Amino acid sequence: YNVSELRRLDVAHHLPAQSSYRLQQQMGGSRIITRAEGSTVWDAEGNAILDGMAGLWCVDIGYGRAELADVAREQMLELPYYNSFFRTATAPAVELAAKLASLHGGALQHIFFNTSGSESNDTVLRLVRYYWALKGQPERSIIISRHNAYHGSTVAGASLGGMSFMHVQGGLPIPGIEHIMQPYHFGDGFGEDPEEFALRAADALEERILAIGADKVAAFIGEPVQGAGGVIIPHRAYWQRIEAICRKYGVLIVSDEVICGFGRLGRWFGYQHFGFTPDIVSMAKGLSSGYLPISATAVSHEIVETLRATDDDFVHGYTYSGHPVAAAVALRNIEIMEREALVDRVADDAGPHFAEAIGALADHPLVGEVRTLGLIGAIELVAEKGTNRRHGKGGAAGPVVRDACIARGLMVRAIRDTIVMCPPFVITHEEIDRMAAIIRAALDEAVGTLAHLAGLPPPQLLEGAQPGL
Ligand code: PMP
Repeated sequence: YNVSELRRLDVAHHLPAQSSYRLQQQMGGSRIITRAEGSTVWDAEGNAILDGMAGLWCVDIGYGRAELADVAREQMLELPYYNSFFRTATAPAVELAAKLASLHGGALQHIFFNTSGSESNDTVLRLVRYYWALKGQPERSIIISRHNAYHGSTVAGASLGGMSFMHVQGGLPIPGIEHIMQPYHFGDGFGEDPEEFALRAADALEERILAIGADKVAAFIGEPVQGAGGVIIPHRAYWQRIEAICRKYGVLIVSDEVICGFGRLGRWFGYQHFGFTPDIVSMAKGLSSGYLPISATAVSHEIVETLRATDDDFVHGYTYSGHPVAAAVALRNIEIMEREALVDRVADDAGPHFAEAIGALADHPLVGEVRTLGLIGAIELVAEKGTNRRHGKGGAAGPVVRDACIARGLMVRAIRDTIVMCPPFVITHEEIDRMAAIIRAALDEAVGTLAHLAGLPPPQLLEGAQPGL
């Protein structure tokens, strides 16, 4: 690769996702990733980087799976594309729908395909409103989500999401979406009994339903564990209480499993770990391990029966709904997960090792809390041990630690002052130990860097300190 030319073209023509374009220009272009194998990616300069983020929370089965390339090639030659409008379907789409229905077992037996997690949540928004209209309750249109939730970047996705900085940029949220507190114990319930805090956070849903009027609330949407919100792992009591409240008022439960699904938490789906039953589930990322774009919305029998009770069309579909090549790749991805028992590996082997190795960083002076579940985790960075007080105004420490990790060959993300991790399921014990060692070295270095930055004027503290999705 001609790296300097690629970086020049990057600045000249390529607007990357969720970035400061000024920073991109100042850096002289993005880091160009050129190849990958297992849990490691290489950039165009030949640097090896251990991928502590599985791409972007998605490459669950790891890189370099020739089997997926083979199946994509075969499907492209046999039938590269056909649509799922006009009463046509393709074999991979139908087979994948049946496979997903079997993984959900029981309630969620019907699958609608989209291309991305955002699109799946757009489907959710339209579907729940259409469902209530068909039930003769069109005024049941409000969807309740949580502050700081991430449900995508389309207008519906960002509206369902609760990231206020995304709302400012687009005049969002669209009408009919409300947000309640998130179950962020470290940030919002520090020092409070974790279970009591979880119940308080869940009861915020009931309070909001009563304030709005139960007959106006269509659904509640949440990730079992908030990923881009900072890997917020709620106490078990949280989802039990949320489910009870939704059932009490007839509010649909939507589980956004775009990050949590396909084994990330050690079960096929996050709702199985927390023991609740959703009416609708959004899936993406791990569905194909990111090898091709595909997402799916699983829907309960009750909802589909209502849709079937009318001759009217649900006028909603995407050109690439059920794309046969992406569906064939997703099917093989799931087959590999089953054959190699990767979900069990997350639960019983890699996950516990990750919890131990990353958990040991809790003793570091910069670390306020370490949270892990399965193969997802977060490290909270604080200015004063034993508190949740941040460096400066907050948001300064995360990028410093992240950059020190990347410089040492480990990809992690900083969400303000939370370092988040999400490695592939095939990560070895040795690689997990290396992750922990690199993070410790980065934390040690950050102590000095942060002391230095504290003496500089505020603009430099803010440089590169955007949250990461
Ligand atoms: N929901 C959640 C929980 C996500 O984490 C994401 C992506 N980070 C999305 C939805 C949106 O998915 P996509 O980027 O594929 O549109």
